[in-house]
Amino acid sequence: MSSDPGSHPADDAAKPWETQRRGLLLLVSSPSGAGKTSLSRRLVADHADLILSISATTRAPRPGEEEGREYYFKTEEEFERMVQAGELLEWAEVHRARYGTPKAPVMAALDAGKDVLFDIDWQGAQSVAKHAPADSVRVFVLPPSWSDLSRRLHARAQDSEEIINFRLDRGREEIGHWAEYDYVIVNKNFDRAYADLGHIYRAERMKPGRNPWLPEFVTGLAEERT
Ligand code: 5GP
Repeated sequence: MSSDPGSHPADDAAKPWETQRRGLLLLVSSPSGAGKTSLSRRLVADHADLILSISATTRAPRPGEEEGREYYFKTEEEFERMVQAGELLEWAEVHRARYGTPKAPVMAALDAGKDVLFDIDWQGAQSVAKHAPADSVRVFVLPPSWSDLSRRLHARAQDSEEIINFRLDRGREEIGHWAEYDYVIVNKNFDRAYADLGHIYRAERMKPGRNPWLPEFVTGLAEERT
């Protein structure tokens, strides 16, 4: 986040809080249609220090989706090559296609002190959180009702009836993992759910371990007292 505490134009020389931050991994999961993608993309758009991890997938692009914006669309062979070359941080089979997180952009973002948001299923969230437990924050988004979820999937009109039913079935499995998450948001109202997600992100950013500049800052405060 850009509005960190303690910043004042007069002591701008080498503000440690601009550079010394330890990036966090914000893992957002939900059944398809619960609004996770809209919430995630808006949070990223509103925070310069938060980068969206763009996954690779073997599923076909939906109308309006663009290469490199929603996903990197891969053939089975291309995806398999990425797996074999160790280019993916994690991957999982979801809805009869394969989805995976390219490793290099995530590492580059963390090296640059940025945070990374992942729009991934429970398997991916579990895998990333296992590898980086101290840096991971898991958020689960629930729909307000099952009929609402079904309505949203139909309104989206991007998938066949068969795929929608498959996604709804799989949504039940996804929801079964809600208790593994640090936070749960019921997306009854988008603005409210978005505010809740923003509060979670803000609070997690303020944990002492994510702000390595704090000890030096506090030492400075103590010296100033005399
Ligand atoms: P969709 O096809 O609706 O875009 O995504 C289907 C599911 O795959 C969603 O639950 C989404 O969060 C998940 N997903 C997208 N990218 C990844 C990824 O890189 N890894 C994993 N494990 N799941 C992903």
